[in-house]
Amino acid sequence: MAKFTLQKVVAVDGGDKADSSVWGGNDLLIYNARWFTRVRWIVASVLILFGLLWFLFSGHLTRYGLTSPAAWPIYLGVILALANTFYCTVAGRLDETSAARDVESNIWLQIIVDLIVLTVLVHYVGSIQTFVAFTYLFHIVLACIFFVRRQSLMVTFLATALYLACVAMEISGSWARTCILQHPPLIDWGGDTAVMLYPVSAVLVWIVVWYLVSTLSATVHIRDMQLTLANERLRRADREKNQQMLRTAHDLKAPFSGMESNIQVLRMVHWDILSDEVKDLVERIDNKARLLRERIRDILMLGHLKGDERGYLAPVITTVNIHDLIESVVGGLKEKADSRQVVVDLKVPPVMVESDSKKLETLFSNLISNAVNYSQENSKVEIVAMSKMDNVIVSVRDHGIGIEEEALPHIFEDFYSSARGSEFNKLSTGLGLAIVREIAHLLNLRVNVVSEPGKGSMFEVVIPGKAVK
Ligand code: ADP
Repeated sequence: MAKFTLQKVVAVDGGDKADSSVWGGNDLLIYNARWFTRVRWIVASVLILFGLLWFLFSGHLTRYGLTSPAAWPIYLGVILALANTFYCTVAGRLDETSAARDVESNIWLQIIVDLIVLTVLVHYVGSIQTFVAFTYLFHIVLACIFFVRRQSLMVTFLATALYLACVAMEISGSWARTCILQHPPLIDWGGDTAVMLYPVSAVLVWIVVWYLVSTLSATVHIRDMQLTLANERLRRADREKNQQMLRTAHDLKAPFSGMESNIQVLRMVHWDILSDEVKDLVERIDNKARLLRERIRDILMLGHLKGDERGYLAPVITTVNIHDLIESVVGGLKEKADSRQVVVDLKVPPVMVESDSKKLETLFSNLISNAVNYSQENSKVEIVAMSKMDNVIVSVRDHGIGIEEEALPHIFEDFYSSARGSEFNKLSTGLGLAIVREIAHLLNLRVNVVSEPGKGSMFEVVIPGKAVK
């Protein structure tokens, strides 16, 4: 049994990357700013917790080589938490419409304060006696991912300057040397400036890491930009194709209307004088014209749904009685169902939803007529509706030919008909589910499909929003 869920393909706005100092658009930046604050809560909590445990278990920890407890972890944790509260308040006010400069300033403020707090931490833990200085790499790598190279280099320089200043002040004695270890290596510096070799070698490693990560990140982002541009070109080409399709369908509509009215005249005025043979011919022409008219109607509907999302086909939301809607759709398909000896079984309570009645009707009409068309003769189509948590779910199940696993991801594409499907249903156009797809996107519906070749299919439509009373 194969499953498939219709997903909405969201157009990604790459932002104005050409002259921005960050990768991605404003929404991505805001997401990053908020992510930074979430991680900082963890760091602040760990610092405070460590400070408290250090006091509580000082006996044990000193036995393992740590110095007697000090209050700096708690102070640093509290400073970080206070700064984070401020960032959260500011970041909470930011949205996609905020100026890029405001979002960037927020991130930069976070980075600068973090690096200063980190430098104090490095000083207390042991600037060159421990490996704590490598925590600067966390900010350097993140800057390479979020910022363009120039900006990430600035973060690397800032980290380097703060770290080297810390060590230089410790060597010169203007900042008392401290370390969290009772017996740290390199305890006796003796004012020897050669000891600077340690921090300088650490800084060289950071610069190499910055170079590698920023080069990789730039390559990935350039590819990303190329893909965004290619995607935009494809969407433009698709819009043009859609316009062309609409124009052609419109041009075809007029001759078919003319043909139909002529058939009507034949029926109303000249029907009695026509021989049975001619009547039969007219009937056949009428049937073919009706099929073509339905196809043109579907092409026009799909074109309008795709190209005019905010135009006259924009959703008109009212309270819809799902039972009445499905019953009327099934009524319209009765003749077709009877001709195939398919029984449509309704288990739809009178649930009400806030949605677009006309579009829901079109969507269910396509799903239910497919269920009838692809059912085996003398079988049942079951339609069930229920409210589940915050959704109303309507499922249409048939016992028909089913859909092959490899065809399933394509059934919602424009003009797609599987080989098996078009062999079974000679009138297959490949437009019905494309219309379902567009309506589902417009009304934010989810469509799940479960199918097994030879056994049947189930299309489940999830309408968001609790059933209204
Ligand atoms: P059409 O039915 O006119 O071909 P659709 O877009 O409605 O166009 O369906 C696309 C394809 O999906 C069909 O050709 C068929 O292969 C498959 N399909 C859709 N619904 C069903 C179903 N209930 N059972 C089996 N196959 C289905």
